[in-house]
Amino acid sequence: MARVFVITGPSGVGKGTLIRKLREALPELELSVSATTRSPRTGEQHGVDYHFLDADEFARRVDAGDFVEHAEYSGRRYGTLREELDRRTDAGHPVVLEIEVQGARQVRTAMPEAVQIFIAPPSTDTLRERLTGRGTDDDEQVAARLRVAVDEIAAQNEFRHKVINADLDAAVRELVDIVRAETAAQAHP
Ligand code: ADP
Ligand code: 5GP
Repeated sequence: MARVFVITGPSGVGKGTLIRKLREALPELELSVSATTRSPRTGEQHGVDYHFLDADEFARRVDAGDFVEHAEYSGRRYGTLREELDRRTDAGHPVVLEIEVQGARQVRTAMPEAVQIFIAPPSTDTLRERLTGRGTDDDEQVAARLRVAVDEIAAQNEFRHKVINADLDAAVRELVDIVRAETAAQAHP
């Protein structure tokens, strides 16, 4: 059975970094490339980091039922395209979705068998430092992301697993253990 892993948590907590390391440890895991209406950051590539769509195209694809889940985040739209997920699960690959909390809730309803993992920061101050240190968002964007983070962190107990990303290597080990244990549990229920 193909497995789906949802990795959620506030922006800047380290989801992307952890997923990169997780996939180095477990190369069979594939990452679903999301669609977004936000502009590419320096170095981001269309079709690799995101499918960058304009607002009309995103809306058209919502109306066409092309998304498994979609949400508005910080004034932009983000979503998981059904074809991204199905292509990988149909081929038998386990898939990781890196999405924010509203989308994770939609996946919980649509695909209750998906394994949901919340990544939490050690503190709000650490989250602010990581968002600022990443250098991809201006002060206003950092402030907006931190405002959303308060509600996201308050929702952490909704999720089956929680990993606190303090020490990176320790968090990667925890994540690898969760994915291995869930994979074994699904193979031998
Ligand atoms: P997200 O994908 O959740 O928005 P990123 O993976 O982009 O977060 O990480 C945000 C910033 O925090 C990056 O600069 C990254 O290098 C840094 N970071 C991630 N995990 C840790 C950690 N455990 N300790 C210190 N810095 C980290
Ligand atoms: P960023 O702009 O930093 O790339 O992403 C902003 C937020 O949107 C992050 O919390 C990220 O996890 C989330 N996100 C990325 N792709 C998707 C998606 O396909 N669906 C949803 N719901 N959120 C996403």
